[in-house]
Amino acid sequence: MEHVARVKDLVEAKQERYIELANEIWALAEMRYSEHRSAELHASMIEDAGFRVTRGVAGMPTAFVAEAGSGGPVIGFLGEYDALAGLSQESGALVCRPAADGATTNGHGCGHHLLGTGAHLAAVAARDYFAANGIEATVRFYGCPAEEAAAGKTFMARAGLFDDLDAALSWHPSVANSVFMNATLANVQAYFRFHGKAAHAALAPHLGRSALDAAELMNVGVNYLREHMPDQARVHFAYINSGGISTNVVPVFAELLYTVRAPRSEDARELFERVKRIAAGAALMTGTRLEIVFDKACSNVLHNDTLDAVLDRNMRALGGFDVSDDDVELARQIQQTIAPDDFENSSRHFAAALRDPRPIVTEVQPYRADMVRPVTGSTDVGDVTWVVPTTQCLTACFAWGTGFHSWQMVSQGKATLAHRGMLMAAQTLAATAIDLVRRPEVLSEAKAELHEKRGRQPYLCPIPPEVLPPPARTQTSS
Ligand SMILES: [Zn+2]
Repeated sequence: MEHVARVKDLVEAKQERYIELANEIWALAEMRYSEHRSAELHASMIEDAGFRVTRGVAGMPTAFVAEAGSGGPVIGFLGEYDALAGLSQESGALVCRPAADGATTNGHGCGHHLLGTGAHLAAVAARDYFAANGIEATVRFYGCPAEEAAAGKTFMARAGLFDDLDAALSWHPSVANSVFMNATLANVQAYFRFHGKAAHAALAPHLGRSALDAAELMNVGVNYLREHMPDQARVHFAYINSGGISTNVVPVFAELLYTVRAPRSEDARELFERVKRIAAGAALMTGTRLEIVFDKACSNVLHNDTLDAVLDRNMRALGGFDVSDDDVELARQIQQTIAPDDFENSSRHFAAALRDPRPIVTEVQPYRADMVRPVTGSTDVGDVTWVVPTTQCLTACFAWGTGFHSWQMVSQGKATLAHRGMLMAAQTLAATAIDLVRRPEVLSEAKAELHEKRGRQPYLCPIPPEVLPPPARTQTSS
C-alpha cells in the first residue's frame, strides 16, 4: 500500500487550483443540461493537464470524456457538476438567505461542485502516478451532466461510453467517510398531458371535456394504486399545468409530471405501465385525449462487493483527516440550525454513527458487504453499475446531520471542511484505481461478480431508444 502515501502527495501538490475550480463551479450553480460554463471549466482544465478531450458526447453539449494514457486496464472516474433550482444561498451564512449578488437563483445543494472536482483530481493524480511509475493504464474522466431530476449517465450508458471500462469509480459529498453502502431505486419519469375541449362552463358545459378532470382522476387512480405497489416503491406527482385560472371555462389542457421509483428497473417499468393504464382510464372517463411524453429513467445501483472492499481498504489506509478548531466551530453552529429529524436521517446512511453528537465525523466508518441497505433515492450512477463494475465512496464534507438539498449544504459548500472531504475523496479514488491496476485479478473477479449479479439479463437501457436527451429545462423535481 505504499502507493497511498504517494497519492496523498500528488493530490496535495495540486489542491489549490482544484479548490479554486470547485469554488468557481459553486458560484456558477448551473442546472441540468445547462452546465455549459461548468463543463467547459472542467474540460479545458483537464485538457491543459494533458488529457485528450471529446466534448458533446451522447448528444449532450455539456457531457464530455477526457482520456490519458493507453493500453492496460481502463479505469473511469465519474464527475458531476449540476446544481439545484431555488437553493441560492450566501456562503457560510447560518440562516437561509439567498446569495446577495443575485447572480443565480440556483445552488449546489447536493455538493456536485465538489463531486466533479474531486473525481477530476483523482483522474489526474492516478494518471500522474501511472506515468511516473511506467505503468500501462488508461485513465478516463467522464464529465457527466444532469444528474439531478435527470439522467445524463443513462444517455451516456446507452451510447456505449462505459462499455470498454474495467472499472468505474465515483463518490458523493456527505457527512462521514465510508464506502457508499446504499442500494438506490430505479426510476421512470414522464409527463402526462390531457387534451380536452373548451366550452363555457355555465352556458354549454355539456360541450366541454375537462382536461383538469382527467388529471384529477388520474391522481385519484394512482392514489388507489399505492396500496398495491411493491415494498419501497414510490410514486410522486406534480401539476405542471392545472388548466388555467378561469372557473367559467372548461379546461382544455392539463399536464402532470410523474416519477415512479422501485427497487429494480423491471419493477419500475412495470409500475410505470400501470400508471399509464390509469392515465388512459382517466382520459376514457372524461372524453379527453392522453399524450405521454417520456422524460427520463435510471437503473438501481448494483453494488460490486469486490470493488467496494478494495475501496474500503484504500480509504482505511488513508485514514480520516484532521480538522481545525474553526471547522468544528462552523459545523457546531450549522448543527444548531438542523432539526432533530435531519440528524436521524443522516444516520440512516451509515452503520455505526447513529446520532453521533460530534459536529464533524471524519474517521472511516465500518464497512461490510452485508451492510448495504436500501435507500429510497435514485442516481443515474445506477446505469453505469449495470454496465461495468463500479464502486463509490462518501466523504465528510459537511457537518454531521446536514441534509441533502438543504440551504445548510449550500452554505457549507465553500468551507474548508468541504474541501478537505473533496481531497479525501480524490485520494481514495486515485488510490483505489492504482490498487486495481496493479492487481488485474481483482478486476477479473469484479467482472465475474457483475456477470453473476446481472444474471442472463444484459443491461437494458430504461430510456426508450426514440427518447433523446432534452434541451435545457428548468423544472425542479428531484
Ligand atoms: Zn447528488
